[in-house]
Amino acid sequence: MSNDSSASPSSSSSSPAPSNSDSGSTPSAFERWRRKVMLVTGLGVTHEERMQDLQQLQIRRCEQTKKELMDTSPLVIFLLRHLRLSGCQVPESNIYCGACDTQALLRGHPGAHAGGYIPEIQSIKLCGGMFFSKQHQESTIAHELIHMYDQCKFKVDWSNLRHHACSEIRANNLSGDCRYTRELRRGFFSFSKQHQVCVRRRAIESVSNNPVCPDRATAERVVNEVWDSCFSDTRPFDEVY
Ligand SMILES: [Zn+2]
Repeated sequence: MSNDSSASPSSSSSSPAPSNSDSGSTPSAFERWRRKVMLVTGLGVTHEERMQDLQQLQIRRCEQTKKELMDTSPLVIFLLRHLRLSGCQVPESNIYCGACDTQALLRGHPGAHAGGYIPEIQSIKLCGGMFFSKQHQESTIAHELIHMYDQCKFKVDWSNLRHHACSEIRANNLSGDCRYTRELRRGFFSFSKQHQVCVRRRAIESVSNNPVCPDRATAERVVNEVWDSCFSDTRPFDEVY
């Protein structure tokens, strides 16, 4: 295998065998193929390397689905259009897939988010590998786009719990996060006022996680205080999607 002198003409000539390149250049086709075989068979690679490879795959899939949704999902297209109309253009690269602390997410409450809005850089991070369906990824993007819309339109102060609570109520109400089948999957079987119960619970969870929120009781109180006006505020939708 090492006598393939015609391979990778652009690689440095110092190392005829396709070992791990020390020159800092990109790996040859042979090296990439060899790694692929090792990762698939599990031979010669550590557990960490396999996990890393899996993570890269999940991120690539997440990016692919994101592109599809940005091009085809009526919900995502609608929100992007209204952001644009409000003066906030969202380049595709501002919605990106990355690795998240999935253990923390899995350990946490069943309604844990698989994405997050980062106001400082006007970006949405999606957690590769955390989506159980395309629709789940769609509602996660929509949820974060509603936070982005609120920031764009109403200049939300995220350290003000009333502001945060209002945006969470709207994001959970309008994104499809609280669709009934999604709730079943999370293990919640209460039938009465299912949608509102879900929106309220998830809003309280998110506000509780705000660093300036002292305790869950405060989060509950604040969500209740702003509930009526924020639950009925369905902008930019005319009614619940
Ligand atoms: Zn949120």
